[in-house]
Amino acid sequence: MAADATAGSGLLGRLVGRGRSPASIASRLTYDDVVHRYGTVTAVAGVTLDVAPGETVCLVGPSGCGKTTMLRLAAGVEMPSAGRILIDGQDVTQGKTLTPPERRGVGLMFQDFALFPHLSNLDNVMFGLKAMPKADAAREARLALERVGLAAHAESFPHMLSGGEQQRVALARAVAPRPGVLLMDEPFSGLDRRLRDEVREQTRAVLRESRVTCIVVTHDPEEALRLGDRVALMRAGRIVQLDTPEELYRRPQSLFAARYFCELNEIGARVHAGAADTPLGRFAAPGLSDGADAVVAIRPQGIHIGVAGSGIAGKLQRRQFLGEVELIDIALDALDRPLQARVRPGASKALSGEIGIVIDPAEVLVFAASAA
Ligand code: ATP
Repeated sequence: MAADATAGSGLLGRLVGRGRSPASIASRLTYDDVVHRYGTVTAVAGVTLDVAPGETVCLVGPSGCGKTTMLRLAAGVEMPSAGRILIDGQDVTQGKTLTPPERRGVGLMFQDFALFPHLSNLDNVMFGLKAMPKADAAREARLALERVGLAAHAESFPHMLSGGEQQRVALARAVAPRPGVLLMDEPFSGLDRRLRDEVREQTRAVLRESRVTCIVVTHDPEEALRLGDRVALMRAGRIVQLDTPEELYRRPQSLFAARYFCELNEIGARVHAGAADTPLGRFAAPGLSDGADAVVAIRPQGIHIGVAGSGIAGKLQRRQFLGEVELIDIALDALDRPLQARVRPGASKALSGEIGIVIDPAEVLVFAASAA
């Protein structure tokens, strides 16, 4: 884990190595065939999900697929229309009244992390510890600020901090009461890209060190892959795949899942004797029957380019320099649309006009066209 690997050096080391307070006693959070409707709209359409104590699960999927509703149900803001939600095996959706988040041992951190501007950072963190004697609350709040590397800023005010630091105060406020479950809704969406990467890594370290059970909602696939122990991909109110980041990326079970986590070159094909025939060659199509229409999806990094004659003939049409990679558009006579390759910068330097391409079969996925 990143937290363990980096502890003891740099900011991450300071974040996880200092001010240790006893970790939360993480809870198990279970959705048992949960349905939620808003009037005629079915936002969650029968979800079963078991989040193990201390695990971080990212909910990801397109806008409107039901991610936030899943959090609201766990938080106790909404009562499911059907099914149950259990925390450590206890049904918290029994009866007619909602059990509020604090009585469920659930902490919340939403995208507008809404620190109180007139309260010091310490008082902001203490806000969630009202049930404790003041001296104990102050001690816990200081420990939480230390845990996010901001002990020195306890007495200053949120407006005196950078956006990333404010986010970390909000994280300290969320973890200070040691919730059994922490629910985060798009927690980094208000930060610019560079800051987001940094705060995300810090948050990951704090979550691991706190060993809190966590659900993070995001619409950013890369964020989900980086943050989650497992990632639940949702579509139209259902979880369509729940897997480790690597499994989900490497072995998507649908074209939808493959597209969500990677740009793809998609080529229509027909299956014949267990393989899909394309102008780029035959690709294994396990599970698809003879004559079936298929989509052959080639990841851009699976297209290698070389001099003319070194593979399938193509024409280099365009190159875009993106710093860490170059995107290369390649026209092929047999295809209506150019292929896009992702190569390391400089790889195309000596090439122009006619080139050769080689496809890495490990970067090719084949799906039934009907399953798109
Ligand atoms: P986004 O990424 O855009 O935030 P989401 O995946 O979090 O979307 P939800 O906010 O859970 O999705 O919404 C799921 C569906 O429920 C959508 O069709 C949405 O319009 C609908 N919905 C959400 N909240 C309400 C509400 N309070 N009343 C009526 N419909 C709602």
